[in-house]
Amino acid sequence: MTTPTTEDSAAAGAYRVLVLNSGSSSVKYQLLDMSDRTRLAVGLVERIGEKTSRLVHTPLVGGGAERRERTGPIADHEAALKAAARELAADGLGLDSPRLAAIGHRVVHGGLRFTEPVVIDDEVLKEIERLVPVAPLHNPANITGIRTARALRPDLPQVAVFDTAFHTTMPEYAARYAIDTETADAHRIRRYGFHGTSHAYVSRKAAELLGRTPEEVNVIVLHLGNGASASAVAGGRCVETSMGLTPLEGLVMGTRSGDVDPAVTFHLMRVAGMSADEIDALLNKKSGLVGLCGDNDMREIRRRVDEGDARAALAFDIYVHRLKKYIGAYSAVLGRVDAVVFTAGVGENSAPVREAAVAGLEELGLAVDADLNAVRSDEPRLISPNYARVAVAVVPTDEELEIADQTFALVGRDRGPVVQAHN
Ligand code: AMP
Repeated sequence: MTTPTTEDSAAAGAYRVLVLNSGSSSVKYQLLDMSDRTRLAVGLVERIGEKTSRLVHTPLVGGGAERRERTGPIADHEAALKAAARELAADGLGLDSPRLAAIGHRVVHGGLRFTEPVVIDDEVLKEIERLVPVAPLHNPANITGIRTARALRPDLPQVAVFDTAFHTTMPEYAARYAIDTETADAHRIRRYGFHGTSHAYVSRKAAELLGRTPEEVNVIVLHLGNGASASAVAGGRCVETSMGLTPLEGLVMGTRSGDVDPAVTFHLMRVAGMSADEIDALLNKKSGLVGLCGDNDMREIRRRVDEGDARAALAFDIYVHRLKKYIGAYSAVLGRVDAVVFTAGVGENSAPVREAAVAGLEELGLAVDADLNAVRSDEPRLISPNYARVAVAVVPTDEELEIADQTFALVGRDRGPVVQAHN
């Protein structure tokens, strides 16, 4: 692959950012043009390492271009990224283009050291590796993605954007577990929080929706996807979040339990003879909505509830009850709440979840207008009635755009006029 020179980059205007989200067996990618913050292409490679790997690529330029799907073995992340690069090249968007300014990587765990995005060098990569013991399910895949992308374009700035970074502003009394201090510190056990890029983006967008600056508002963000987390954001800074050392703590999720008495773990070890790995799998993969009723898709659960299925109804009630507890707790943490904001797959799409989560919370100033709640839209919107003291809003999240913004802000400053990031 030819390496573009600095002169080439400057002449062409290097405004493109490739965002990579590398999972253990998948790579999601988006190519964005940061001169107008539009998407040029999006894609996904999944089931990496299996015979039935699948690549789905959608070019979003040159009107009329269609989604392409390819199946067949893709051995590893390197092959996956090369396959994605071929698809991009076929659309005239190759990774060897001088227009590419940087690659932005989603990295799940940044520990306490990474409070902001960083340009990746060997030392940064080593530190991300050092965090593998506290993020064994996520950081190894992120590291593989980084190594592969660096090998492909060694000349290009690669930026790590951390899921934990937004939460590093949490005060010590919110972040520290009440366990023996020496033990906690020796093993870096504390609450880190995740989904930070989403909480950052959505809380900022919510302020914009209210016609205020982030510094002026206190918001509770409910990121309800297959993974789910809540955060309390005061004046633009995170002061509490529901996920902890790992993404297991907090809300009921698609397959994760969220909060349980930690004694459940040793009870299962002693009484059921389960191993740590078995309990890990139970709580992370076979609990939450799927553990309660066999389904983790809220659409399916609602369909079953409407048909009178008691197990699905109980799963829904448990999910919503946990949400209410967090809304109440975070109202107390913030003192004054300006908005409660729903986002991600369930939060953006499930009117029944939004209605039920807020029902009965009038004393906290919360209410939902049934007609506004029923509207389907991709735009940020208010769903509370005019009289409500606290705004209730739906704000679609966009983690890739946030990663691209943060990446470009770090490396693209000198590359000429661009529209204002973080709007
Ligand atoms: P995410 O992790 O943000 O992609 O969210 C995925 C989850 O969103 C799915 O597991 C579904 O439970 C939920 N979801 C997606 N679309 C809808 C919808 N139209 N109604 C209710 N839930 C939905």
